[in-house]
Amino acid sequence: MTERVVILGPPGAGKGTQGQLLATARNLLHLSTGDLLRREVAAETSLGQQVKAVLERGDLVSDDLVLAIVSNRLRGHGNGWLLDGFPRNFPQATMLDKLLGDIKQPLQVALQLQVPEEELVKRLLSRGRSDDSEAVVRRRLQVYIQQTEPLNAHYQAQGLLMCVDGLGSVETVATRVCESLDQLQNGKHTVC
Ligand code: AMP
Repeated sequence: MTERVVILGPPGAGKGTQGQLLATARNLLHLSTGDLLRREVAAETSLGQQVKAVLERGDLVSDDLVLAIVSNRLRGHGNGWLLDGFPRNFPQATMLDKLLGDIKQPLQVALQLQVPEEELVKRLLSRGRSDDSEAVVRRRLQVYIQQTEPLNAHYQAQGLLMCVDGLGSVETVATRVCESLDQLQNGKHTVC
């Protein structure tokens, strides 16, 4: 059974939607760092006040802060999980490798949702989140290309990367994701 998953992909690829569906289907804890940060901002906590401007610009909040959010929740959790929006850069991926080693819960798959850039911009601009204005969308895509996309190579080198075509309806992509994970369980790796 695949129980420890990182979902990767550019903003607008469907990580949140597909992550939620997969987590529900397989009874995994769904940890979305973006959702957790937005919740802090909405509740106007001191953490929320610290990160509000960063989210509004489309930049990344500090690695230590995000690691604390994730590690607190993973440490107390013995069952499966799905990380969405973390790791976002090499330092975070290294911190995660170390954390998972410490808690003896090694990652099983890094699932990359692939969607072309024109489609991403279209999806993001129609979504209406407060960080979805055109300038911020472009900034977030730029941050993704510079900092997050190189993680594919990190996970490929560990034999953990699995790519899934993220184009199509929510249901179509969800079926593809499940089939790819099932193949993994049968020992057949669908790599990129
Ligand atoms: P997301 O919902 O994953 O698109 O994240 C929305 C915003 O939250 C990002 O643009 C960042 O400002 C912040 N964020 C989410 N996850 C992380 C992370 N792992 N590291 C740094 N910033 C993050």
